[in-house]
Order: sequence, then structure tokens, then C-alpha cells
Amino acid sequence: MNYQWYPGHMTKAKRMMQEDIKLIDLVIELVDARVPLSSRNPDIDELGKNKSRLILLNKADLADKNANKKWGEYFQGKGYFVQEVDSRSGAGMKAISAIIQEACKDKIERDRKRGIKNRPVRAMVVGIPNVGKSTFINTYAGKACAKTGNKPGVTKGKQWIRLNKNVELLDTPGILWPKFEDQAVGLRLALIGSINDEILNIDELAMELITFLKNQYPGTLEKRFQLDESEEKSAVQILEEIARVRGCLIRGGELDYGKASKLLMDDFRSGKLGKVTLELPEAE
Ligand code: GDP
Repeated sequence: MNYQWYPGHMTKAKRMMQEDIKLIDLVIELVDARVPLSSRNPDIDELGKNKSRLILLNKADLADKNANKKWGEYFQGKGYFVQEVDSRSGAGMKAISAIIQEACKDKIERDRKRGIKNRPVRAMVVGIPNVGKSTFINTYAGKACAKTGNKPGVTKGKQWIRLNKNVELLDTPGILWPKFEDQAVGLRLALIGSINDEILNIDELAMELITFLKNQYPGTLEKRFQLDESEEKSAVQILEEIARVRGCLIRGGELDYGKASKLLMDDFRSGKLGKVTLELPEAE
């Protein structure tokens, strides 16, 4: 999804979310496991106050296993329920129903005391663009309970997806906007491909990635590209080697840095370089 955030869109998105949040008991917030803080907008804490909270570390399949564990502990320490998931394969999703019951225990108990029986927990999915909200809803809800389309001429109402006898999910996710104020946040979102490449210099991104991998995941580039990533080598030199190894050439036999950068970024974003997390809780 491309996005250009204009204040008008943000205000509207926020207003819509405020309305939707009134209807629900539980906020299911998706973050990208590779950048759990950079892919969050903390405004959701204010919007979702008094609601039960579940954070899903989505795309956990692309992130570092140890880091996933650390982030799980980090968010748990802040009072959220947390679960690692891969929305594409469905890994980690079996546990969610039980977690939802646990997260909404107080509400269920309140209902019971008031004599309300079997009122399902209502939940909505929120997160920044590209974090996997639609994929999650489709996989979690499954094809069996795919939403029913709106009939033409009928005013669009809220659509709920019945997940099981205990849970209903709002069919449209709430969109949060990323926080761009911090440059490091912008860079990380660009690295995972959450920001349109057309507005960024791909060579620079590739060099940032090379520097990061060399420091935090040494050996990764060597393994993928059979090159020597020794200390003295600069990011440009490594990019040059990638271009050479992969035969990225422009007419006349010169190296095509743009092509090599694109290749490297695609490899990273699709997990071909291995499981990599770009930020850790200690550093925050
Ligand atoms: P949305 O904008 O938040 O609704 O995001 P989408 O559901 O459209 O997902 C954005 C991209 O991320 C798509 O290409 C998905 O296939 C991919 N994606 C979503 N969840 C996962 C996941 O858990 N793992 C991986 N590897 N890719 C995912």
C-alpha cells in the first residue's frame, strides 16, 4: 500500500477509530516483529484506554527468534497480552482464542454477575499500513466466515465476523499512522519496505542495511553472497561486491549499484537473508 499522509486523512482515521473503539472490548494491535516500536503509534494507548489489549508480533517468521522473545517479555512487562504470529502461514494463531478469553476475563466476569450470558467479546484489529492487518483477519477468521458484502443501496453498517461462539471481530481494521518524527523510525520503516521506495534513495537504504547487518548479524552477507565482509570494508565496497557477484551491470560493463541495492533489499524483505530484527528493547 502506498501512502501519503495528509493531516486530513489522519484526523479522519483517528475519528473513525474513536467511534469503532466505543463498540469493542479488546484492541488487537499488530506490530511488525522486526521493528516492534517503530511500527507502532503510541496514540493507540490513549485511544484504547480502558480496553483489553493484545499485541501481536506479526511477521514473526521474518524476525530474529531471540528478539521475538525479548519483545514478548518487554510488552508483557508493560501490561499487554502478547503473541508472536505469522499471518501468512497462520503460525501462532491457535493460541489467540484462549489469550482473548484471558485478556477479557474481567469483562466476562462482569457480564456474568449482571446475568448476561454468552455475550461474545468484541474485538478490532489496528495497526499501521502494511503491518499485515488484512492478512491476519483473513487467516484468523478463515474462509468459512468470510465477511458478507454490503448490498447496494443499503447503508453501510458495521460488519462483524463471528470467529467462534465467544469472539466477534470488526471486519475493517483501524489504520494507525506511523510516527515519522524520529529519523531512525523512518529509516527502519523504509528498510522493511513499509515506506514507498520511490520516495527514498534505494542505494542509501542498501548501505544502511549493509552497515547494520555487518555490525549486528555478522556473516549474513558473506553467506548469502559469498563475499568477504571484513572489518575494513566500507558499505559501498560491499555493495560493489554484491553487484559483481550477482552480475548487476549496465551497458558498457559498469556496475549497476541501483540494481544491486534493489536485489539486496528484496532479499532482506522477503527473509532470504535470514531472520533479522532491526531494533531491540534494551536500546529504547
Ligand atoms: P495491511 O495494510 O496492514 O492490511 O497489510 P496486508 O495484510 O496487506 O499485508 C502487507 C504485506 O505483508 C502483504 O504482502 C502480506 O502478504 C505480508 N504479510 C502479512 N503478514 C505477514 C506475516 O506474518 N509474515 C510475512 N512474511 N508476510 C506477511
